Amino acid sequence: MAYFCGRKSNLLSLLGFGLSPHLLNGPILTMLYDSNPTLEGVIKTIDEAKQGSVFFNEQTDHGHTPGVKRFYIESYGCQMNFSDSEIVASILGDIGYAPTRNMEESDLILVNTCSIREKAEETVRKRLKIFAKAKKNRPGLKVGVLGCMAERLKKQWLEEEKLVDLVVGPDAYRDLPNLIGAAEEGGRMVNVLLSREETYADISPVRLDTNGVTAFISIMRGCDNMCSFCVVPFTRGRERSREPFSIVAEARDLFEKGYREVTLLGQNVDSYKWENPETKERADFAGLLEMTAAVHPDLRVRFSTSHPKDMTDKVLHVMAAHENICKYIHLPVQSGNSRILEMMNRTYDRAWYMGRIESIWRILPDAAVSSDIITGFCSETEEEHQETISMVSWAKYCMSYMFSYSERPGTLAARKYADDVPEEVKKRRLSEIIVVQRAVSQTYNEGEIGKTFRVLVERDSSKSDQEFCGRNSQNSMCVFPKKEGIKPGDYVQVKIRAANSATLMGDILDC
Ligand code: SAM
Ligand code: SF4
Repeated sequence: MAYFCGRKSNLLSLLGFGLSPHLLNGPILTMLYDSNPTLEGVIKTIDEAKQGSVFFNEQTDHGHTPGVKRFYIESYGCQMNFSDSEIVASILGDIGYAPTRNMEESDLILVNTCSIREKAEETVRKRLKIFAKAKKNRPGLKVGVLGCMAERLKKQWLEEEKLVDLVVGPDAYRDLPNLIGAAEEGGRMVNVLLSREETYADISPVRLDTNGVTAFISIMRGCDNMCSFCVVPFTRGRERSREPFSIVAEARDLFEKGYREVTLLGQNVDSYKWENPETKERADFAGLLEMTAAVHPDLRVRFSTSHPKDMTDKVLHVMAAHENICKYIHLPVQSGNSRILEMMNRTYDRAWYMGRIESIWRILPDAAVSSDIITGFCSETEEEHQETISMVSWAKYCMSYMFSYSERPGTLAARKYADDVPEEVKKRRLSEIIVVQRAVSQTYNEGEIGKTFRVLVERDSSKSDQEFCGRNSQNSMCVFPKKEGIKPGDYVQVKIRAANSATLMGDILDC
């Protein structure tokens, strides 16, 4: 692979920019603030377990130190939002704010919000009411709304929801120091400008994870696709790709700090494209994958999300050629019916999607595929719903994120189509899909019994501190008894002896 040879090391220096060293090392804890509804196992409508996660960095928690300002941040929505909170944490660290997981001792409360479904917005509104009470008791406390809801509702927050001091869209986080300064002087500040260039390439995120083994790297922002149901193009702006050297440098830095897996994140990673303004050399996603995989054979590379219209055989061949690029593709179908796909403006039909899955099977016979599915989209009939069910069985998804359609104001679908499938029908169809997916996941996992996988040890299993858990290349969660000398970050060979629809159970083999 020849892209950008000779320039990588120069670009390594980018990583130091904007860095707050005291925030970067050591374990980082997250916690949930309440009992979020979590669906068991792989059958998820959304990654509820992470909703409302509170950013916290243990190293900086030395109790309440007079004079040190504290921020408390909750994150909602997709992984991109969680990654953005890590960028925000880095920017705040530079102006002397330390994180806290105790809202009561914070000087600044931030909520990084999601607009993808109405329910996500309702959850945030409820949280803001709680923050309002805290503000009444402590008049100096500032509250800010970040992310997609900030972008969608803009000044409305300042005018209607009087408790908010800051409204900051996803492309305006560099302005946070100014906005916070003005808010401390009593102002109520808003910056929701979207950018065509901002990628935060030079900002080293403060890691928001619990294991020090796996991390996410944003490779692009925004989306140009205009799926008719989706609010993302309106809240996160036009698609732009981050320059590749800073991505590779971030991956290398993570590897040197002990991380063993990176997930490259974007709304549509297959349309990643970057051109060197001086040399006109270009990088596409296949090239970026190769560059990242070359960091070290022991650094695993994953990515999400792939769009069926853009996923090329070239990417599949690069995956096949590199052992450390994980054999797992999240390829959301949304619907199994061609008429609905057209109304969704997904720009592929059922046959095209099946063709992409067949290419995966041909080029990567051991790969696992997962999906996103929406039930009860405008005018969807029972027969069309059955086609989605049959797709789940045909594609043998190892898991899916499943949602009932939620009309979002301003989207193409909200303007063009009636949201005419009754709520109880949407929910019933969702439960039917969940039942089928659970059975498909069960069959898939049972097929793994007896096989041996290379597993990256991540952490203690959630059920027992006598067991570790970690994923195989196909992204299946494996649970196995601990063995002396083995620790998180190690690779082990695990032979699978049992399975349920969510997890593979096995034993470490002697190497
Ligand atoms: N960019 C990714 C793609 O194209 O597959 C998905 C991004 S979106 C944040 C995650 C998922 O939320 C989508 O794949 C879709 O299934 C779901 N989603 C988006 N808008 C929705 C809506 N209005 N109602 C229900 N589910 C929705
Ligand atoms: Fe939304 Fe479609 Fe873009 Fe995904 S590809 S973020 S679903 S518009």
